Amino acid sequence: MIMTYGPKRQVDTSRPHPARVYDWLLGGKDNYEVDRHVGRELPADGRDSARQNRAFMIRAVSWLAESGTDQFLDIGTGIPTEPNLHQVVQRIRPSARIVYTDNDPIVLRHAEALLVSTPEGTTDYVEADVRDPEYIIEHAGRSLDFGRPIALSLIALMHFVPDEEAYGIVRTLVDALPSGSHLALSNASSDLRPERAARITAQYAQAGIELAFRTRDGVARFFEGLDLVEPGLVTAPRWYRGAAPEREDSTIYAAVARVP
Ligand code: SAH
Repeated sequence: MIMTYGPKRQVDTSRPHPARVYDWLLGGKDNYEVDRHVGRELPADGRDSARQNRAFMIRAVSWLAESGTDQFLDIGTGIPTEPNLHQVVQRIRPSARIVYTDNDPIVLRHAEALLVSTPEGTTDYVEADVRDPEYIIEHAGRSLDFGRPIALSLIALMHFVPDEEAYGIVRTLVDALPSGSHLALSNASSDLRPERAARITAQYAQAGIELAFRTRDGVARFFEGLDLVEPGLVTAPRWYRGAAPEREDSTIYAAVARVP
């Protein structure tokens, strides 16, 4: 089932979009010249950061599935890139139920690739903006049971939302989750390599995309009231459970926390 949001929106190829720039960084083909232009102007290790962020997502949701979570709400899903979240978790837990959400019409256009669930489980797609968390909760509730633990993943999403809205949004989403749920979140840092961060922010701003890279404290604030699981709030390649952390470092903060 695909839930769409309002009137059908067209893919706008006249200006760059975050999902398509990220797709280009990951080596995908669902991007346009306007997106590639932004990507090429980024520091050379931008592609490593994207790949490391994606690898964090895979490790985090694998660990969550292995430790018993069988419901996932993934907001800011991005253009499908194998392995997608449902493929990772349903390999471990075939009956897992997944709801994907993104606000970019290009992701909706590719949503079929996300809806190939195992027969035992389900995958759904809700076209929505994270700025409307109540809408997301309402529609996700058609296939997820909010009476049982859910893993909420906001991976490389919140750095597209400014502080004034971001903390309230995450609070509303987390408050809808029962005890035993988890939040997995990553957000580009503004303080690890400040000059690099300023350059990237300026590059995206020139392209009309406002970024909210955050300090360590700024990212930690998303997890207030939650119990961080080991290894705590670290950079994406350093987050591990089971497998060893990657050797390289990155400037993206990442963590997983449990709802008490
Ligand atoms: N979570 C994926 C993709 C990250 S790219 C991963 O980490 O691999 C960021 C995604 O967030 C893009 O697909 C973009 O379209 C989406 N996004 C940006 N702002 C959004 C918003 N306000 N609401 C919903 N999705 C948004």
